[in-house]
Amino acid sequence: MESCIFCRIARHETPAYMIAEDADTCCFLDIAMDAEGHMLIIPKKHVSSLLDCDEETLGHVLQMVKRVADHCTRCGYGGVNLLNASGTCAGQSVPHFHMHLLPRKSGDGMDTWPTLPGTSTPLLDVYNKLKME
Ligand code: AMP
Ligand code: ZN
Repeated sequence: MESCIFCRIARHETPAYMIAEDADTCCFLDIAMDAEGHMLIIPKKHVSSLLDCDEETLGHVLQMVKRVADHCTRCGYGGVNLLNASGTCAGQSVPHFHMHLLPRKSGDGMDTWPTLPGTSTPLLDVYNKLKME
């Protein structure tokens, strides 16, 4: 998509610190500067989120996620967190599917698990609503 910032990065029209790239995906540093090594992994094809991502494209993205995660362990990190927002109600701000990858080290002081509000909805009600046939 012409105006999409991540499409532009994938086409090398907008600069980015490109960490890895293959025919279908790329991985670059997030500009937020909020965590050491915060990276984004995207499909080169424009899909707006996980919700409209076809399975083949998702497979390509996850292969790159695995490749980058393994690379992080070789660079001295002990683990990674993966984060994704799909849909504006979920907090997605850039409408091109991306996985956030955060390299982790013991004692790095990061708490990447969201603080959740709690719920009073009984588990059985939720189960009946969400169970897949
Ligand atoms: P989300 O809120 O999950 O859609 O995340 C979007 C992310 O894209 C944010 O963490 C931004 O810092 C990041 N971002 C936006 N523009 C750029 C850019 N030009 N290069 C790298 N990261 C970007
Ligand atoms: Zn795009």
